Amino acid sequence: MEENGVRDVIVIGGGPAGYTAALYAARANLHPLVIEGFQWGGQLMITSDVENYPGYPDGVLGPTMMEEFRRQAGRFGAEFVTDDVTRVDLSERPFKVWVGDELYTAEAVIVATGASARKLGVRGEREYQGRGVTYCAVCDAAFYPDKDVVVVGGGDSAMEEALFLTKFARKVTIVHRRDEFRASPIMVDRARANDKIEFVLNAVVEDVVGDERSINEVRLRSTVDDSTWELPADGLFVAIGHDPNTSLFLDQLDHDEAGYLVTEPGSTRTNVEGVFAVGDVVDHTYRQAITAAGSGCMGALDAERFLSERHGHPEAALTAPRAEAAEV
Ligand code: NAP
Repeated sequence: MEENGVRDVIVIGGGPAGYTAALYAARANLHPLVIEGFQWGGQLMITSDVENYPGYPDGVLGPTMMEEFRRQAGRFGAEFVTDDVTRVDLSERPFKVWVGDELYTAEAVIVATGASARKLGVRGEREYQGRGVTYCAVCDAAFYPDKDVVVVGGGDSAMEEALFLTKFARKVTIVHRRDEFRASPIMVDRARANDKIEFVLNAVVEDVVGDERSINEVRLRSTVDDSTWELPADGLFVAIGHDPNTSLFLDQLDHDEAGYLVTEPGSTRTNVEGVFAVGDVVDHTYRQAITAAGSGCMGALDAERFLSERHGHPEAALTAPRAEAAEV
């Protein structure tokens, strides 16, 4: 931190992308402040076992992994504010970031606020999250070998998740509220061609029912005649889209129609010099912890380079070549 209280870097967001950015920034002597959110840890905090993150051959619980990411960044001097950013002003440097009445300033900002899976908002959904209700087939499909599962949604994600689930599950039922699909025809055709996949159209999930351990069935309601019925299910995969957590930035940073921040291709640079965006907040496509972490690393290296080139930051200038050489 400089004498006037201006930080080198503030990282907004505490998930795999934010903590990795903080780790790299801390190791480059940029003393990052991570404003990690009141509910720090991001989407992995609502995941159970993570089995696809390299380096954890026996799997790891999502919350445990996030604690370790956080601890690793802290080991090199990253500091944390466990609260939500309420306002930002990115119109001039130093950038201003508020948490309530508390103002923090920095020469560079790395936005890592992630995205949130859309929820159905029905009875039982929250109660059984992580015990049958999930928002990520890539993460959780392997826990449903020879089981009957339901996928909700009619977009590409729902088709993709259903197809992925057929590698494990006995039967996959796609429940969609209309009889037309938002998904591309090729994805619908692939799902239709798969013997394990059935469709229930013009229906919504109204209720998730189970016992103390996991779900047993979902109650469906017809969107045509309001009739209801039960469908046995060991798992419910909600695939109705994600929303990027970008409301703080929409009037200041370039974004696409869906609200995802836009960065220069091959970089984490946003349209505001000195502001970088990493992880799911820019990523429609991959949305994995490993890709978010990689992107966080890129953001820190971009921020370090920016500080070193534009501000002649002495420590950053010293560490930039080392970071490039050693941190591959
Ligand atoms: P999406 O295209 O927005 O589709 C969301 C689906 O969920 C829609 O069918 C929608 O129904 C349904 N839905 C929304 N809210 C619902 C609710 N409360 N209850 C029941 N159903 C609800 O989202 P996405 O499938 O995640 O795709 C997002 C973007 O990523 C798209 O551009 C997609 O093409 C892309 N993507 C591409 C691939 C691929 O190419 N392999 C894979 C995944 C995603 P309605 O149709 O009735 O609105």
